[in-house]
Amino acid sequence: MQIHGLRALDDNYIWLLQHDKTAWVVDPGDATVVLTALENLGLHLHGILITHHHYDHTQGVTDLLDHLGPMPVYGPVNSRFDAIDQPLKEGDRLALEGWILNVLQTPGHTLDHISFVNSQAAFTGDTLFTAGCGRLFEGTAEQMAASLKKLRTLPDDTLVYCGHEYTWANIHFAARAEPDNPDILTRMAQTIANYKQGQPCVPAPMGLEKATNPFLRFDHAPLRQTLLERGAEETDASLFATLRAWKDNLDATGELEPKR
Ligand code: ZN
Ligand code: FE
Repeated sequence: MQIHGLRALDDNYIWLLQHDKTAWVVDPGDATVVLTALENLGLHLHGILITHHHYDHTQGVTDLLDHLGPMPVYGPVNSRFDAIDQPLKEGDRLALEGWILNVLQTPGHTLDHISFVNSQAAFTGDTLFTAGCGRLFEGTAEQMAASLKKLRTLPDDTLVYCGHEYTWANIHFAARAEPDNPDILTRMAQTIANYKQGQPCVPAPMGLEKATNPFLRFDHAPLRQTLLERGAEETDASLFATLRAWKDNLDATGELEPKR
């Protein structure tokens, strides 16, 4: 399976999966971007995969169906996005011309959030970002911590394909959360270089996420100790909530954003 990253809206990624002349699309927040790519690559779209109901991941679905005709729309069984006609839950498997994707329920950012994973690729929507994670809009800290720990069990060479390009702010936060982690400093330098050259930082291997993403490391020393000092209790939910709130507060100041 060949995977194309399409940039859409402000900072979204739409993932176009290609096998010969057949394609599937993950989280089409913009139909025009997808239709243009299909035409340029000469592909036929066979299905649409949705990670969660937010408009920036679903807005293009109706237009795609209008332009291309009916096709399966896969998404969470408990989603409020009503164009889904192939509802999926934990443990379900999706076969895209023999390429199997497993469905994980990964609530926290939203209650309906799922991820599509196999040993090569993980489409993590707004649950796991490169060097970060999604905000808690509907779920609890306990749910999000459990979702991230579930994703953390994927092999190191699985590539993480997430829903947004937020790597700059995320890795700059990581460097504050774990200032003595050399892998974070290396990744920060690489991220800055990529942004300067207009290169994407997604996908990234799960092994790099495990080494540098604070939201996969909240229960490990030394970050765990830092979070306890910031008032967390010794539970995953409290450690995660303390870390998430720390980043939310910094996000509000704008100081983690790229300097242009
Ligand atoms: Zn979202
Ligand atoms: Fe989003």
